[in-house]
Amino acid sequence: MDGHAEDFYMKFNNKICLGIESTAHTFGVGILDFKGNVYSRINDMFVPDKGGLHPVQVREQHLANFMKIVRKALSEAGCSMKEIDLIAFSQSPGLAPVLKIGALVSRMLSQLLNIPIVGVNHCVAHIEIGRLMCNVEDPLTLYVSGGNTIVSAFESNRYQIFGETLDLPIGNMIDSFARFVNLAHPGGPKIENIALEAKQYIQLPYVVKGMDLSFSGLFTAAKRMIESKDFGIKYTLSDVAYSLQETAFSMLTEVTERALAHTGKTEVLLTGGVAANRRLQDMIRYISKEHAARFEVVPLKFAGDNGVMIGWTGILRYLTMGSHDISETSIQPKERMDKISIPWRDH
Ligand code: AMP
Ligand code: MG
Repeated sequence: MDGHAEDFYMKFNNKICLGIESTAHTFGVGILDFKGNVYSRINDMFVPDKGGLHPVQVREQHLANFMKIVRKALSEAGCSMKEIDLIAFSQSPGLAPVLKIGALVSRMLSQLLNIPIVGVNHCVAHIEIGRLMCNVEDPLTLYVSGGNTIVSAFESNRYQIFGETLDLPIGNMIDSFARFVNLAHPGGPKIENIALEAKQYIQLPYVVKGMDLSFSGLFTAAKRMIESKDFGIKYTLSDVAYSLQETAFSMLTEVTERALAHTGKTEVLLTGGVAANRRLQDMIRYISKEHAARFEVVPLKFAGDNGVMIGWTGILRYLTMGSHDISETSIQPKERMDKISIPWRDH
């Protein structure tokens, strides 16, 4: 390390960032240093009584709780707000009323205490925390969650999107099916368990269009099977749950494998809340092996939405481009991650 690089590291190593996640169900705060050591990760999650995420209800819960979460994160990290050197927040994409809370809290703290602020794209943050936690350099990423379904890899200075859902995100589709059969939110883990008891695979609509995926036909067909007179006679809920998972995950695996063959990446990263699913892990592990690529699942604490991933991505941006001016911190609910250049990666 030359003298300049050494000074740079001395200057930044002991700095601390507070990251705020606020795009959907989770209001999360993470505190970490500029080397990536994590001191706290506190989440408050909205769980609907019935139906999906209602933005106004989510907003109310986050508004009622944000200070408690910030305080808890600071206390667990053993620091005060005055010791924070950087504030990062999820600026995009997500539900506008919910994004606004994270933006408001961050802007207020930043201006009140004169702390630099950085806005972060939530999808980029999922990849960056995966690279850090799994120690991978340049992965093909399958990001599967309640709100997103994206196959992405770094090319031409951006996280390009190679495939994505055209309608429902995978996690949302499984949760909605679970709700239809009266299982409480989140349905993903329950459907995974129920599927283990299946005796047969029943063919369901498998829709891959080019590199994109469509889950709505599959969702409708699975619901029709539950309503059919044959339900409980020719097949069980386990059979339907299994067939739904097998079909959806095979679609995800097909697109991921094609992107892997196309990009020639040698690492595969599975992230987002649905990454917890063992069957999906097995499928993606299998194709990774076929292509001699290293396979990693992001540790589940950091695979679902959290403030640490926002903080880490904020640090990367700050170290290469500095902070954002307050005028640049308005929320971008629809921003796609392939629109953002990634200056901290060098090719
Ligand atoms: P996220 O949006 O990243 O916080 O992830 C939440 C989503 O992950 C919800 O849709 C959950 O149902 C889903 N999920 C969590 N665990 C599992 C699992 N074992 N199998 C399938 N989906 C899961
Ligand atoms: Mg997410």
